[in-house]
Amino acid sequence: RPPETTGDHRRPPESTETLSRNGVADNRLEAEVLLRHALRQDREWFYASLNEQISAQHLELVHALTSRRIAGEPLAYITGHREFYGLEFAVSPAVLIPRQETELLVDIALKFARCRSGGSISVADVGTGSGAIAVAIAVNLPGAELYAIDCSTDALAIAERNCRKHRVTDQVQLFYGDLVDPLPRSVDLIVSNPPYIASQLLPELPQEVQREPQIALDGGERGLEVIRRLLEQAPSRLKANGCVIVEISPEQKYEVRDMATKRFPAASVTYHYDMLGLCRCVVISTKQKRRP
Ligand code: GLN
Repeated sequence: RPPETTGDHRRPPESTETLSRNGVADNRLEAEVLLRHALRQDREWFYASLNEQISAQHLELVHALTSRRIAGEPLAYITGHREFYGLEFAVSPAVLIPRQETELLVDIALKFARCRSGGSISVADVGTGSGAIAVAIAVNLPGAELYAIDCSTDALAIAERNCRKHRVTDQVQLFYGDLVDPLPRSVDLIVSNPPYIASQLLPELPQEVQREPQIALDGGERGLEVIRRLLEQAPSRLKANGCVIVEISPEQKYEVRDMATKRFPAASVTYHYDMLGLCRCVVISTKQKRRP
């Protein structure tokens, strides 16, 4: 048990150390976040009160949170929120924690929408989870109409909270169901961050990823089963000159391209890479090229 009181406990040094010793790479930042969460304070406070001590009670709380963290609980589940696309999202163990690499998918979706009639388009977000993708698109495209679908009612409850938080309930309709099944009409754009981890790799995932909902990660055989079903169903729900944007695992790109060209023979399929040069999104565009 770490020593009590005295000294500067504003950043209990033992938190950073404990996190570091237990393999938390971002230990300094995470220690700060846990401390601020325990004290319900923001970054501004953190830097403004560098020389203040914290009470033994608060210190106790920080230690409790640190213990949860090193037992494998993701930081975002402890604090209950995560930033994505510059917006704050509520998260719970019922939803996948939004990842920075998924911001690429939102970038591509916004670009596609803006090239089209100033952004007044219809979009389906399949497997919306926390609603991060749908809400980020809605906030940045006030003219867009979104349908966000999930097969988990617990996830939809979080998505609803996030829609209210960002005041996009008029723009985003939530639906319970399987893939594109619940869509009330065809859309211009289908986006999805589906489960794409191969079932047999799930036990090898880092401890904290294993705390995330299996249903949001498990893509079945080779991680491609949900993507395959989505691409089978997508053509019947996509308007002319539409687009499908799917997040994938980098090594899946050729197989996903082959699945896509089978279902959308006239479409152009492009790969999109993240800042590390990893293929993160496959984009299927059905726009017919104009003949010269
Ligand atoms: N990117 C996630 C991970 O690597 C997987 C998300 C998913 O399956 N959609 O943990």
